[in-house]
Amino acid sequence: MEEKQYRHMGVSLEQAEALIKQYLPKGGVPEEWVGLPEALGRRIAKDYLSPISQPPFPRSPLDGYAVRSADIQGASLAHPAILKVIEEVDAGGYPSSALSQGEAVRIMTGAPIPQGADCIVKQEETDYGEQKVEIYREHSAYDNYCYQGEDFKRGDCLVKKGTCITSVEMGLLAGMGYEKALVFRRPKVAVFATGDELTEPGESLLPGKIYNSNMYLLMGRIREMGGEVALWGIIPDQEKEAAMVLKEALPKVDLVVTTGGVSVGKRDIIHGALELLGAEKIFWKVRVKPGTPTVFSVAEKTPIISLSGNPFGAMANLELLVCPALYAMQGESASLSRRREAVLEDDFPKRGKVRRLVRGTYREGRVWLPQGPHSSGVISSMRGCNCLLDIPPGSGGLSKGEKVQVILMLGMEAGIWN
Ligand code: AMP
Ligand code: MG
Repeated sequence: MEEKQYRHMGVSLEQAEALIKQYLPKGGVPEEWVGLPEALGRRIAKDYLSPISQPPFPRSPLDGYAVRSADIQGASLAHPAILKVIEEVDAGGYPSSALSQGEAVRIMTGAPIPQGADCIVKQEETDYGEQKVEIYREHSAYDNYCYQGEDFKRGDCLVKKGTCITSVEMGLLAGMGYEKALVFRRPKVAVFATGDELTEPGESLLPGKIYNSNMYLLMGRIREMGGEVALWGIIPDQEKEAAMVLKEALPKVDLVVTTGGVSVGKRDIIHGALELLGAEKIFWKVRVKPGTPTVFSVAEKTPIISLSGNPFGAMANLELLVCPALYAMQGESASLSRRREAVLEDDFPKRGKVRRLVRGTYREGRVWLPQGPHSSGVISSMRGCNCLLDIPPGSGGLSKGEKVQVILMLGMEAGIWN
């Protein structure tokens, strides 16, 4: 009964996302070790706690003299404090003894502060003395003093499971002393475009044909999400051939994504192909425009997400269904943090019975629509967009100044692609 209901009325986007997640590998894709130089863009598979404090010792933030603040009270150019210089410590060196009353240690940036010293005097505030040094300024305890653990402390969790490794995480992992990282293996994805009208870029375009742009758009986005596109190609509008190509792909990947052929036309061959394959259809149709005819099925335990061929329909459903699935397979569930309320900066007069997704550019609580056409066959106006407006069913059109809900494209939540 439930499945029938799905087939006839479709599911909501939220139901669709939840249903897909039920069929993903439990606990995500397997983990693997990678050397730190290769870790960029991967998602980390365990919490990384620091075994050390950084810096591991109190250190000097500048070139000067380590002293006891009590010894330099009242010091000035006219009445310098005169201290005995007992040694010099450079970065990488270590003081041989503690510092006593009336003593100073010549110290360089990054060098450990000797015990007994509680502040550093900049060399410019001294006579640069070698045996004895004249100090021309008084300081309070812990002036110019960089604490042990100032950056992070032993036991701090600096990189949480599921985090994408950016340059900052690379630096943090290295700073904790890890030379390799346990990451999720990249989810392997097969991407197929269907359609007899499709021509591969590089070939000449015959009458009635178009270039296969969707496949590359999907491929790029899947890679941006950390996926590895392991197989790809064009499937002609023939059910048997489509079933054969899919069958071959199933054991090689974690997820299959197709575009085109999911509607109700004569050449919408995905349904027949899935039947030949013996796939279990989990849902057909998502109650949203564009991209309504999305099909989700499972064959040989491999999830197959079949998107519409309409470029924007494919893109929007990819963003809301495939991207979260890729995140989930890599230990991250980011679907909730991507919603924002925003003030609409342009009119959107289109009425609609069905929930509609509209491309836009979100910034600091405001959202703009692209200037060019943004029908579902158009991708050029996607440039610069970073979100989808989520317009509820029954909308009578929206005016500038109204509040709307937007869904940020994944990776844009923090303002960067992560
Ligand atoms: P379909 O979902 O197969 O009915 O296709 C809907 C529309 O999208 C048609 O205009 C197709 O020509 C177009 N289309 C389908 N697949 C692609 C593709 N891979 N690249 C660009 N446009 C496509
Ligand atoms: Mg087609």
